[in-house]
Amino acid sequence: MFHWLNDHRRKKILEQEFPAEWRKILQNQVAHYQFLNNAERFHLEQLIQVFAQEKSFEGCKGLEITDEIRVVISAEASMLLLGLPHDLYKHLNTIFIYPSTVVLPRARQSMFSTTPLVVNTEIPISGQAFKRGPVILVWDAVEKAARHPEFGHNVVYHEFAHILDMLNGHADGVPPLHDKESYATWSKVCTKEFNSLIKKSQQGKSTFLDSYGATNEAEFFAVATEYFFDKPLKMEKNLRDLYDILKGFYNQDTAAREKNYRPKF
Ligand SMILES: [Zn+2]
Repeated sequence: MFHWLNDHRRKKILEQEFPAEWRKILQNQVAHYQFLNNAERFHLEQLIQVFAQEKSFEGCKGLEITDEIRVVISAEASMLLLGLPHDLYKHLNTIFIYPSTVVLPRARQSMFSTTPLVVNTEIPISGQAFKRGPVILVWDAVEKAARHPEFGHNVVYHEFAHILDMLNGHADGVPPLHDKESYATWSKVCTKEFNSLIKKSQQGKSTFLDSYGATNEAEFFAVATEYFFDKPLKMEKNLRDLYDILKGFYNQDTAAREKNYRPKF
C-alpha cells in the first residue's frame, strides 16, 4: 500500500531534527497544535518538515517569506492530513502569499482545465485554490485564524479542503472517500444540509454554517471543514450527521480533542 514516507528524499528530510524555533512558532501561533496529543504532534511535525521543504512559498506584493509564514501554513495544511492516507497534496507545488486581502481579477475554474480563466469582475479574496495548484493565501487572514479558531473561519483549512475535494477530479464537494459505501451516506447528509443552508440563507434566517457554504457543493464542503476543525463541539451538537461523516472522512475526532483540551472546572 502507498505510504507518504515511501520516498527516499522525504526520509532524508526527516533525519533532521525538528527545529526548536519552529516548535516555538507552533506553540505560540497555531492554537490547534496545543490540542494534539504527543503522537499527533510528532506526526504533524513530520508532515510540516516535508511540506515546508517540498512546496514553494512565494511572497507577493513585497511579502518576505519567513519561517513563521512557512511553518504556520505548513502546519494548518498538514492538520487536515493527520488521519488520512495521502501524498501530501502531490499536485500542489506553489503557494502564493499576499500580505493582506487582495483584489484579484475573478478567476473562474473550468471543470476541464487546470488553469484559471480570467473574467472581468474583481473580488476581494483571502484565498483561492486551483486544481493541481497553486493555492493563493492572504497572510493576515491566515495568521489571525491560526491563533483564533473560535471565529470558525480558517482560510488554510478552507483552501486545502478544496484541494482534497479536487483530488478525484472535480470540485464537487466530495473528496475521495475511504470506501464505496460511504458515498451514499455522504451524498444523503450533505444534500440535506446543503439544501437546508440554501433555504435558510434565502429566507434570511440565521444559520450555523456560514451562508457562503450555500454557494455550491464545493464551498459547502470547504466551509464545513472549517467548522469541523474550528467549532467541533458546536458542530457535533448542531449538525451531528455532518459532523459524523467529516469525522469518518478526516479520521479525526476534533470534538473529543477539544473536549479533552478544555480546562475542566
Ligand atoms: Zn472556497
